[in-house]
Amino acid sequence: MSEPVTMEKIVSLCRRRGFVFPSSEIYGGLGSTYDYGHYGVLMKNNIRSLWFDAMVQEREDILALDSAIILNPRVWEASGHVAGFSDPLIDCRTCKLRFRADKLDEAHCGRKPSKHPGEWKECDLTEARQFNLMFQTRVGAVEDASSVAYLRPETAQGIFVNFKNVLQIARRKPPFGIAQVGKSFRNEITPGNFLFRVLEFEQMEMEYFVPPDEADRWFEYWVQARFDWHVKYGLRQEKLRIREHSEEERSHYSSATSDIEYEYPIGWGELEGIANRGDFDLAQHTEASGTKLEFVGEGGERYTPHVIEPAVSIERIFVAMLADAYHEEEVAGRQRTVLRLHPAIAPVKAAILPLIAKDSAMVGHARSLYEELRREHVVEYDDGGAIGRRYRRQDEIGTPFAFTIDEQTLADETVTVRDRDSLAQERLPIGGVRAWLDDSLR
Ligand code: ATP
Repeated sequence: MSEPVTMEKIVSLCRRRGFVFPSSEIYGGLGSTYDYGHYGVLMKNNIRSLWFDAMVQEREDILALDSAIILNPRVWEASGHVAGFSDPLIDCRTCKLRFRADKLDEAHCGRKPSKHPGEWKECDLTEARQFNLMFQTRVGAVEDASSVAYLRPETAQGIFVNFKNVLQIARRKPPFGIAQVGKSFRNEITPGNFLFRVLEFEQMEMEYFVPPDEADRWFEYWVQARFDWHVKYGLRQEKLRIREHSEEERSHYSSATSDIEYEYPIGWGELEGIANRGDFDLAQHTEASGTKLEFVGEGGERYTPHVIEPAVSIERIFVAMLADAYHEEEVAGRQRTVLRLHPAIAPVKAAILPLIAKDSAMVGHARSLYEELRREHVVEYDDGGAIGRRYRRQDEIGTPFAFTIDEQTLADETVTVRDRDSLAQERLPIGGVRAWLDDSLR
């Protein structure tokens, strides 16, 4: 049995192998913000594009959109965010720390970290006050109230305010959806937990507009479809569950919400939320803007569609997939750490390794195989150090296959392929490697 996966282990691997760094680290970092290195970028690109494939490319009923991050501030008044997008906060007069009133059981006392805030005799907590999570900024040079603007806290509103544009140009009829991926910003005050809760994150949201009497059916459909997507790309089913929100917990706009939760190293947490937003958003923007956001059928029937929204961040998927894939095991008396990532998610698909770096014939074969494969896939050439060390490095970044060029290659034009998970090795003709890899990644 391997040790339990802790968040510290994930953070340390991400740092060691260059997936993720603390942001602006040379200045001491900034809480809850991170920078992505090479492998982190590749893995995020894979998550984003697999989401896009499933939500847009492989369907006929969903269109793409990329709206601005800074919108007219009236959008956020109409959506209810200026008045209500807030968390209840509590300050401690003793340790001067600030906590979320609804998450005290996850926080630690500033002076006695083994206790929760309020549990130690010298804790002196204030009443809870509402704190808006939107980052404010100013547009233009004049510092008056009219120039206040916000960084979007969700991508969804950019979709609602474009409803009419898309409907007119794409000539769609509900049910149809609009999908968007982009950065969202929240001034979260419960930092920590690595990428699970960060100040800026890449949200992937899809608003699915449906006839009102079909909303319940489509809600169930999207909960299941999104659950299946996470399983397809490698999350273990026993680490996933669907949790329905109680009435008190639901947002002001929602008539039903289910979270797909994952058992992170820090405990069960929301991976993705699926909400039935009713006609709240389109009705609010119709009223506030004076532009009718409704569907008018050919026969003249008109209604405001209801909206089903699956919303998730790349960050929460990224951490869940790393935690799920992380394994420490003993192989032939040696410890190895391996990321058993789904091949489609893995940042690098294959490594090409000449057994002896000083052997120019081996290097020549390896380089030309590398040049051939990299036209189609992200592959890596590595001739640095002992072969065992090179394998271990690839295991740690989750590379599913390694092709090794050795003495036998020079004699019979075959290479060894090593499987990351089973460690099985077989020989393939070098000319057939490309087709073999294409098949294995399909
Ligand atoms: P939580 O209750 O965990 O704060 P939420 O209910 O506020 O989350 P939503 O507003 O439903 O989150 O956002 C939709 C999705 O966006 C979440 O399911 C999650 O995947 C992602 N998300 C939200 N906030 C953050 C954050 N601060 N960091 C990373 N991802 C986030």
